[in-house]
Amino acid sequence: MSDSGSLGLVLLGGALLWAVIASITAVVLQRRARSDRIQQSHLQALVDSIPDLTWIKDRESRFLLVNRQFSRAFDQPVTWFIGKSDLDLSERDQALAYLEDDRQVMADQSPLIRQEHITGDSGSVAWAETIKVPVFSPQGDVVGTAGMARDITERKKAEARIEYLAHHDPLTGLLNRRRLEVLGEEHLSALTDGEQLALIFIDLDNFKSLNDTLGHRLGDEALVTLSERLRALVGQQGWVARFGGDEFVLLAPGEDLPLDDLVQRIPDTIAVPLEISGFRLQLTASVGVSVFPRDADNFDDLLRCADLAMYQAKRQGPGQVGTYNASFSHQSLFRLSFRQTLQDALDNDQLFLEYQPKIDHSTQRMTGLEALLRWQHPERGLISPVEFIPLAEQTGQIVKLGDWVLDQVLAQIATWRQSGSSPPRVAINLSALQIHQPSFVDRVEALLAQYNLPGEVLEFELTESTLMEPSPDINQCVSALKDMKVLISVDDFGTGYSNLSYLSRWPIDVLKIDRTFVHRVDERPEQQLIIRAIIHLARSLGMAVVAEGVERIEEIEFLSRESVHIMQGYYFSPPVLPAEVEQLSYWNAD
Ligand code: C2E
Ligand code: CA
Ligand code: CA
Repeated sequence: MSDSGSLGLVLLGGALLWAVIASITAVVLQRRARSDRIQQSHLQALVDSIPDLTWIKDRESRFLLVNRQFSRAFDQPVTWFIGKSDLDLSERDQALAYLEDDRQVMADQSPLIRQEHITGDSGSVAWAETIKVPVFSPQGDVVGTAGMARDITERKKAEARIEYLAHHDPLTGLLNRRRLEVLGEEHLSALTDGEQLALIFIDLDNFKSLNDTLGHRLGDEALVTLSERLRALVGQQGWVARFGGDEFVLLAPGEDLPLDDLVQRIPDTIAVPLEISGFRLQLTASVGVSVFPRDADNFDDLLRCADLAMYQAKRQGPGQVGTYNASFSHQSLFRLSFRQTLQDALDNDQLFLEYQPKIDHSTQRMTGLEALLRWQHPERGLISPVEFIPLAEQTGQIVKLGDWVLDQVLAQIATWRQSGSSPPRVAINLSALQIHQPSFVDRVEALLAQYNLPGEVLEFELTESTLMEPSPDINQCVSALKDMKVLISVDDFGTGYSNLSYLSRWPIDVLKIDRTFVHRVDERPEQQLIIRAIIHLARSLGMAVVAEGVERIEEIEFLSRESVHIMQGYYFSPPVLPAEVEQLSYWNAD
């Protein structure tokens, strides 16, 4: 707050009082004989009623009057001060500063406001706000000054607290997003040629599930400990901010960026096991790095680049570090023309399906297949569904795409059956938008009839977020599908909202444990806890459990011990073309 701003406020509040004091002061200063004592005692009573230290001085800065608060502060009777100056009260340097202020007020004939930091004998710190005004005689001459000082220590503390809260995250004490943005901009503009700065975006893997499974208190403790580690890692060289739930951003200068030592040390720093309330947790984070000036020339773009890099890293699995790569922005160009290119893909047979088996490890039989969409783009090559499904959801084209998938899958099942095989149930991934189509169930029914197939051949995988949306349509849709003997499973369980209440609300048959929990579960006690909790929950609700993303024998051993037998993953088979499915040893050929 500027001095003139606060002066305005103070003067507004104290204007009336000052008018009274100033006029009475004029009387005092003129020292009219006889009535002096009466005037003096009235004036004393008046100033004593003011809770702030209050005084009046003559032109030579000698005290003419002080109130009781003032006398208490200096531990002397009120009469003691009369005729004395600040030189008798305060240390010399301080007193001279006060006298200089008086002189200035009289010379400028205008008020002066100061906030002062006072360190007491005991080392205690206090803040005082002093207002000084000139006092005029009835003829308009300056005859002295009047002043008031108040203790604003509490206000200062409150201001400091507000300032702190505005710039920091209350849980971890790290800078908040807004503050980092300001500091980042300032720092970037101060960098000279050749200097680099890395922006490191850190997003904890599966933190949401940990929080929901173990409780928010443990989650908070974990965040606090991690923040301390990150702060220690960065030290004085840079800044650490918490951007939101489980997102941290580091800003650090470095050499040899982005392969700088600091960047490389982040995954290990996070992976050091946490001991919290008897739990031993080992966390991982996905890290994205962008570098100024290589990737962007302003903070916003730098942040976007690091976020993109983090997102790409997360797609590789937990605990990965990704560096911004200019080809990411070519992907944005791809987005622009996406609507048309996807339409072309449908028209020109660029889409096809692969199937990945679900294996019952205890019998080594194939109990199901999952259909996964592929796009063979003429220029870009094979495009991952992770990339184009979200875009198709945004443009609404997922409805058309989903319909194509359904048709293809049923046609494939019919072909298998006609050739004498007994294909297992085939699962299709459904997007929220599809299930919100009022005609969806009718369409499934019509296609089943067209291919002369029973509902038992199909399963739909829905994500938690889809099921979470409170919608009567979904309710009806799910019940109608159940009546047709189509199975419903929850996909990627544990990664989304993990609001468990919906699970009991829907007639869900299968719960698929997300592959991020399965990944190296044998080495990760906290993931074991989560998986056990998920299994327990599923069983208590009468659901079957499928583990996805099974890659290693150790994971299979863990899952088997927990009586999870249905598994899907590269260990058994990657997604493959229909002809290859028939070649798998698990296939039930007649
Ligand atoms: P999802 O439903 O979780 O599919 C499983 C993904 O895990 C597949 O990726 C699969 O290739 C991959 N995967 C299988 N085994 C392993 C393993 O052992 N380790 C690892 N790391 N990954 C494994 P894909 O094919 O890239 O599909 C990605 C996502 O795209 C799917 O995730 C699904 O959400 C979506 N998707 C795919 N096809 C369709 C579709 O037809 N419709 C809709 N709406 N979404 C689809
Ligand atoms: Ca799936
Ligand atoms: Ca999944």
